[in-house]
Amino acid sequence: MKEHNFHPESLMMSEGYRPEWSEGALKSPIFQTSTFVFKTAEEGKAFFEIAYGLREQGKKEKLGLIYSRLNNPNLEILEKRLAIWDGAADCAVFDSGMAAISTAMFEFLQPGDLLLHSNPLYGGTSHFISHVLSKFGIEALGFTADLSREEIIDLVEKSGKAGRLAMIYLESPANPTNALIDIEMCSRVARHFSTAEKKVLTTVDNTYLGPLWQHPLKLGADLVLYSATKYIGGHSDVVAGACLGSSDLVKRIKTLRTFFGNLASPWTGWLLLRSLETLKLRMEKQAENATKVAAWLQNQPNVRQVHYLGLLTPADGDAWDIYKKQCLSPGAMVSFEVEGGEKEAFSLLNHLRLIKLAVSLGGTESLAQHPASMTHAGLEHEEKLALGIGDNLVRLSVGVENVDDIIWDLGQALQKMAVQEHSILPLGQVA
Ligand SMILES: *Cc1c(COP(=O)(O)O)cnc(C)c1O
Repeated sequence: MKEHNFHPESLMMSEGYRPEWSEGALKSPIFQTSTFVFKTAEEGKAFFEIAYGLREQGKKEKLGLIYSRLNNPNLEILEKRLAIWDGAADCAVFDSGMAAISTAMFEFLQPGDLLLHSNPLYGGTSHFISHVLSKFGIEALGFTADLSREEIIDLVEKSGKAGRLAMIYLESPANPTNALIDIEMCSRVARHFSTAEKKVLTTVDNTYLGPLWQHPLKLGADLVLYSATKYIGGHSDVVAGACLGSSDLVKRIKTLRTFFGNLASPWTGWLLLRSLETLKLRMEKQAENATKVAAWLQNQPNVRQVHYLGLLTPADGDAWDIYKKQCLSPGAMVSFEVEGGEKEAFSLLNHLRLIKLAVSLGGTESLAQHPASMTHAGLEHEEKLALGIGDNLVRLSVGVENVDDIIWDLGQALQKMAVQEHSILPLGQVA
């Protein structure tokens, strides 16, 4: 018979787990244990030799279970399943997205190095770069989506630190504006600055579209990072992260993870295994809903502009080309500008009845927030304006609810926002 390759969604229920490990249990139990019993002292010695890199690992030899800060069955199964979506050789899971990001940066950046990154970045990442990495003498240089390959190269040359460029770090689509960065082009910039002694790594935070709709490793990236708190977890009830890439790179990250002690817990691993079974169903429904919500928002009188990948057209030039090249779906994150400023945006948010006013994204429930005063409050005013994060911008993470209810809720809140604005005008004045 011909070999058959199962699709990722078909493997999410079984890959990496065997019922005979646990009395025939169909589902993996939670391996709630801190330590593991060695069969013999010789076996324990062999496991430690590999864990500490005291000798070469045999071809067939695998790191045995030692202690739950190094590895644990729930997390090993999770890593196997996550690797399938991105076509990665290996995966390391963490107890938060920030743990994955900061560990990857610490492993591959040295004092004196230069980190080139896209702007805007997730607030936590941005803070880590400017307040923590800077203390270790690691310099950072940001660029926006509108720069060409030549302009980015020029920017690095002009910094005087081109020889110390160690990592290009990207977030695309950007949060909250959905601005697109060309991952393949950036990996060519990394190659341009790589030497025989030092490879410049291209690293992508794929939280917004991954792991279904954007596969950075296939576009030339070396590492992919996730806040698994978002779509991967998908139920807004767990905080976790992941880093994927080649065996060599992920091995280094796992070693540092052992000493930072930021591996996820067995319970977190188990929750994420459960989430992965419905990942595709959830994400597809969310994108379908978001497409309808964005199209509807675009025709509302109090909405000035909608930023959604599904609304891009060939007239958008580069953005359209990048979208076609690297995104497999428009995703489920929408941001839109209302007529007015902070007062109007707040009025809209305060009048929502189904959609919850909260940060985070990717969960089954729809969430709305105000980037300028919430997720991106840490940016300077000018910086916000330059990046398109105005006081009238609202970000929406679209969930799996009935789309008519989401639209109804936005409709009534937009109407109340407009009525309120009229009613507070001084008597006799017309809007
Ligand atoms: C939430 C988020 C993070 C941080 O992840 P945590 O799980 O909250 O630590 C990083 N990047 C992006 C794009 C995010 O949305």
